[in-house]
Amino acid sequence: MVLQPRADSYTYGVKPIENFVWTEERLKQTWDMKINQGRSSLDIAKTLHISKTRVHNAMRRMYRRMYAQCVQCGDPLSEDLRDSLGNRMTSIRCPKCNQAKRDLQHELRERARAMELCGVCHVRPALKGRTACKACISAAHRRRNKKGLCGHCGERPIRKKGKALCIECTVKMRKDAQLRRALNHG
Ligand SMILES: [Zn+2]
Ligand SMILES: [Zn+2]
Ligand SMILES: [Zn+2]
Repeated sequence: MVLQPRADSYTYGVKPIENFVWTEERLKQTWDMKINQGRSSLDIAKTLHISKTRVHNAMRRMYRRMYAQCVQCGDPLSEDLRDSLGNRMTSIRCPKCNQAKRDLQHELRERARAMELCGVCHVRPALKGRTACKACISAAHRRRNKKGLCGHCGERPIRKKGKALCIECTVKMRKDAQLRRALNHG
């Protein structure tokens, strides 16, 4: 089963932003549009090129953050967590919900692994001998390359004459390829 990308229509005819993330700046902008300028969620959704649901969800998270509540269960945060919020608009979870989230992610990854599905998207089959699918591996690869890091290990910088890999990973890939050829023809 492969998940299809959602139709453009859900952002009301406006082309959705690819890989939209709620940055601190966007959260502040949204809060300002909604609270100070009194603009509608639909209007904000069109401005940000996202769905109205995402605006609603972000507003709910920010309300909880404003009242110093856990974004998940709504329980009041402990004093030290409240202090750590500072001026940020990003919401946080209480320790209980944090643990629950970790447990759930762990369980989903384990279940995906048992079914030989990708450990990142849990939907597409994992590549042979890998724990992620092709799409998720390439996405991670691109994210790392954008930062100037090796797409494979994500730790070392891309080698001088290369486009995507560090020296160590290039050497390793070449050796692996040689080994594979030897095994296939030997
Ligand atoms: Zn909680
Ligand atoms: Zn995947
Ligand atoms: Zn590398």
